[in-house]
Amino acid sequence: MGNPTSSTPDTSKSEPLPPGMVIGPDGKPCKICTAFRHWKPPGTSKPKKAAAAGTVAATTVAAITNSDTDIRPAHCPPDVEILGRATWTFLHTTAAYYPENPTPAHRTSMLSLLKSLPLLYPCVHCAAHLGENMKENPPKVGNRFELSKWLCERHNDVNVRLGKEKFDCAKVDERWRDGPPD
Ligand code: FAD
Repeated sequence: MGNPTSSTPDTSKSEPLPPGMVIGPDGKPCKICTAFRHWKPPGTSKPKKAAAAGTVAATTVAAITNSDTDIRPAHCPPDVEILGRATWTFLHTTAAYYPENPTPAHRTSMLSLLKSLPLLYPCVHCAAHLGENMKENPPKVGNRFELSKWLCERHNDVNVRLGKEKFDCAKVDERWRDGPPD
């Protein structure tokens, strides 16, 4: 995979952007905001095709997403989807194991973690949306139940914005802590 940030595409020639391609605040294609399957390297006319598993050495290929159209070499940096899945996994799992009676230190640390995301999350568009959402829905860190529910709702807000189905928040423990019943 090339480095799309090393050259500045001339957006003034207004070639239509491929669907899903996101432009960053610097006016360049935003690599971490764009799904790999939508990526159009500067100077080409078509979105980059995901490599077929059979065309790349087996040792360098890993199906690291659950989409069969997005098989990427394992050494490639994350795209918005890989980063999103990994971040949600971390956040939901951390919420699932958050204490039922958190100490003041737990609460402060969790608040600090969540409030840092709008500032630090590498997908700037995602971070900006989250920041706006958190102004209307401040984090609830009183115990693991309310934190898990709050996080599920924030994730659902993103799901809805992306046209995906809402997750049933009654199932967060099953999904992120207990696993399905036998
Ligand atoms: P994901 O949405 O990543 O979910 C992973 C798993 O979590 C699912 O398989 C499901 O089992 C479970 N799950 C789903 N919903 C919930 C829920 N509500 N509660 C608990 N568990 C759930 N992408 C964009 O394109 N634009 C954005 O603006 C954007 N904003 C984001 C903001 C944040 C803070 C984060 C962490 C990610 C954001 N993403 C954004 C990425 C996006 O949310 C997805 O992670 C990505 O599209 C991959 O989606 P997915 O369908 O594989 O599953």
